[in-house]
Amino acid sequence: MIAKTKHIPDGKTELKKLPITECLDAEFLYYPVTSQRCPEGETCVIGGQYVKIGEVIGTRKGAFFEQNMHATVSGEVMGFEKHVDQSGKPVDCLIVKNDMKHDIHPSIKERTDEDIDALEREDIIKIIKDAGLVGLGGGAFPSYIKLETKDPIKVVVANGVECEPMLISDYGLMMEKPKEVIQGLIYAMKASGAPKGVIAIKKKYKELYESLMFARGEFCPYDIDVVRVGNHYPQGWEIETIKNAVGITIPQGELLSKYGVINFNVSTLSSIYNAVKKGLPVLERYITLSGDGVKNRTFRARIGTMMTNLIEKAGGYVDPDTEKVLILGGPMMGVNVTRDDIVMTHTTTSLIVQNNVLTKEEPCIRCASCVYSCPVSIQPVMIMNAYKTRNKDALKALEVNKCIECGLCSYVCPSKIHLTEYMRLGKRLAK
Ligand code: SF4
Ligand code: SF4
Repeated sequence: MIAKTKHIPDGKTELKKLPITECLDAEFLYYPVTSQRCPEGETCVIGGQYVKIGEVIGTRKGAFFEQNMHATVSGEVMGFEKHVDQSGKPVDCLIVKNDMKHDIHPSIKERTDEDIDALEREDIIKIIKDAGLVGLGGGAFPSYIKLETKDPIKVVVANGVECEPMLISDYGLMMEKPKEVIQGLIYAMKASGAPKGVIAIKKKYKELYESLMFARGEFCPYDIDVVRVGNHYPQGWEIETIKNAVGITIPQGELLSKYGVINFNVSTLSSIYNAVKKGLPVLERYITLSGDGVKNRTFRARIGTMMTNLIEKAGGYVDPDTEKVLILGGPMMGVNVTRDDIVMTHTTTSLIVQNNVLTKEEPCIRCASCVYSCPVSIQPVMIMNAYKTRNKDALKALEVNKCIECGLCSYVCPSKIHLTEYMRLGKRLAK
């Protein structure tokens, strides 16, 4: 049997009907001192210190950039505890006890439109850097570094495709705040020198298209298009989105800016709007709880909220005595986690809770479905075999590094082999 799979059930219809619930009043907020891109970090506050919303409380440090950490509530610094972050691993987290007074730090100041008009490109980039903005679609790549490019940029693409099943936080944001996304896109165009902006969404979202087109009417001096691209998976992969939204083909591994393109997730553009217009770092985001093991809900919650707070607020686990499988992120690209003391960070889009769906792997039947479905045209089954024999040369020859970890090979495999996990392991071994 050979099957090329591009269309997968997205499970979003019911989730999109859920009302958005606010969860802005957790008693304790937790701020990971490190992240996947920043393996080191330090705090600049001490136990007992009073902090305000938007105050810098530390810095995460990576190989090529630093990211400010900000308090998202006002209250007292309580110390440190280890909890799980977006990587699925326990990390040190600074704890702030929320005093519910919502005191805003004096550094947070809204700008008038005249103030913003007077900003130079470098000023906008510095605002974005100081606000600690990173890609909110999951990549967590620092936004200011994309904008600092010396390459001439022709177009900024706002990626609102969100192709992974069960994820609806970008959809919810665009439906609720389309003008913020468009304004953020305009600021990104100004910071990059791009004359054009394109918002890419799925073809099937007619209601979203109409809403964005209506909102666009307010920004008519700017050259902004809304383009409907395919519904298939992984249409949201930036190379695929750019090809279908603006017709530019970018070879994998090349810098987008060399081809005159910068790509931002729509949530990131909303965070750029909040930083430039309101002087705010990322204080909150949309997050979805889904799966048959939990009451489903979409929340608007503060960064630093513990996932257990959200689960409780949603109504708790369904069948609490049944063993659960927890997936942080989407079902295709998310990571399995073994505990639920997960801290919501900038890039946490979703938690899926399933009632005991552990599957048993069977031997490979050489059907080649994984090969035919791979969007980057590598051979997952061969890579798995090379990894099993720890053959680094074969892994390199098979171009394991091209894998975008989209999860399609695992999804299509009739033997339920977790091929994507082998791809991750293979990449690490081939380094
Ligand atoms: S996870 Fe990697 S190997 Fe598997 S289908 Fe996606 S890109 Fe191809
Ligand atoms: S790994 Fe799975 S999908 Fe790939 S050839 Fe074997 S059985 Fe088929």
